[in-house]
Amino acid sequence: MENCLFCKIIKGEIPSKTVYEDDLVKVFLDINPATNGHMLIIPKQHYENIIDINDEIITYSLKLIREKLYPMLKEKLNCLGLTISQNNELGQEVKHYHIHLIPRYENDCDKHTYNEDILKPIDEIYEVLTK
Ligand code: AMP
Ligand code: ZN
Repeated sequence: MENCLFCKIIKGEIPSKTVYEDDLVKVFLDINPATNGHMLIIPKQHYENIIDINDEIITYSLKLIREKLYPMLKEKLNCLGLTISQNNELGQEVKHYHIHLIPRYENDCDKHTYNEDILKPIDEIYEVLTK
């Protein structure tokens, strides 16, 4: 879809730190991470939100999280948990369906301490995840 930020990322018109990609989905690091390794799963086809998304994409994404992405986050970033969220309409900044994967760490609820001391540059996280 024209003028959709995530469609542009899929077409390669806007760069992204892609950690996984196949025919159905693309997974890349969130530009403004809540925690280290915060990533987004997006379908390659444009869907706006939970109302119009294809069931197959949801099932596929959950399987991908369970079998590949969460194990990868645990292994490479030593996260202790995973928060999965997905905004629809109000609170949804980008109107292309996406699932947030937010790795959880000890003390990550203390935003001040977490941002100041623990949040690493995305390039660094990308390198750890893709090497
Ligand atoms: P939401 O509020 O659920 O629509 O979240 C949109 C997310 O997309 C936010 O967490 C943004 O930080 C993220 N985001 C926006 N632009 C980019 C981009 N160019 N590359 C990666 N993530 C982005
Ligand atoms: Zn789109």
